[in-house]
Amino acid sequence: MMKPALKSRTPEDLRGWFESRHQPRYRVDQLLEWTYRRWADCFETMSNLPKNLRRDLDESFDLNSVTAADVREETDGTRKTLYRLRDGESIETVWIPSPKRLTVCLSTQVGCPIGCPFCASGEGGFIRNLSPDEIVDQAIHESAREGRAPSHVVVMGVGEPLLNYENLMAALSALNAPWGMGIGARRITSSTCGIVPGIRRLSKEGKQWNLSVSLHAPDGETRASLVPAENRYPLEDVLEACRMYRDRTGRQVTLEYTLLRGVNDSPGQAAQLASISRELDVKVNLIPYNPVDPLPYRRPDEGAVETFVKAVEAGRGKITVRREKGGSIDAACGQLRLRRG
Ligand code: SAH
Repeated sequence: MMKPALKSRTPEDLRGWFESRHQPRYRVDQLLEWTYRRWADCFETMSNLPKNLRRDLDESFDLNSVTAADVREETDGTRKTLYRLRDGESIETVWIPSPKRLTVCLSTQVGCPIGCPFCASGEGGFIRNLSPDEIVDQAIHESAREGRAPSHVVVMGVGEPLLNYENLMAALSALNAPWGMGIGARRITSSTCGIVPGIRRLSKEGKQWNLSVSLHAPDGETRASLVPAENRYPLEDVLEACRMYRDRTGRQVTLEYTLLRGVNDSPGQAAQLASISRELDVKVNLIPYNPVDPLPYRRPDEGAVETFVKAVEAGRGKITVRREKGGSIDAACGQLRLRRG
């Protein structure tokens, strides 16, 4: 029998548990501090808790929801970790240091149900949603390894976050809350392939989370060939939901656009993309395609990327190129995958 995961417990749940043990309330705060601020990996190290309480906790809960199974680091400091989950499944997490920020990129599902044909994450199919503790524990383990917390969180690893909505919300809350990791909402960005009901729901949470939407094409026809969710949630509805998100939260939405040679990199598509950017007043984040073997897509050369950017700017669209990190360890956008066994 698996013990319940400690990190799936809200402070209220824990207060109930401590009360039932006749423990004073401040013990909960001590436990939360050890868990979310000091990234303890066993109850034994929680030295200001009484020994018998530590033992009781250990018998009642699992503190770790993920365990590092394989770590690969690139010379630029980008690090990809394969984490084993308690049921034997695994996920990937990326740590991305840059001069101004420390970013952790979290997965939300084991595999991905969307199956975009250019992305590695859906290739092995979909296994299951991650629980809140499995999502937040990736950030905790990365912090522990690094000896410092991330300044930014991007929910851009394996999976479609908005198809795991409740668990995503619980995890974001633990990342953000003062009792949790205390990372500012404006420093947390979730990315979606365009799940319209999820975007609408998120816009009503009254939070300052950032939202990124994977557009990848400025017209429905091309988009349908790249993002299967287009068939359910057409481009116009996705853009309308983005507008709603911006209006309700006051937060800027970013559009992600993976540039694929000969597929979505024409001058006409640049012009259309520019007009979307202009009309919605949103920035486009351009990601030159990262190769995934054996998928039949290719990355445009530097000149073609430059030409596309210039064309979008000429149409008065806002666009920046995402600096590639982690390509040589297959940790870049779209290269994270389901690994089993
Ligand atoms: N499922 C969510 C979260 C993943 S974010 C979403 O689709 O937004 C990962 C981003 O990298 C997405 O924009 C995805 O479309 C993009 N991507 C996928 N494969 C890629 C590749 N091979 N090269 C560059 N970007 C890729």
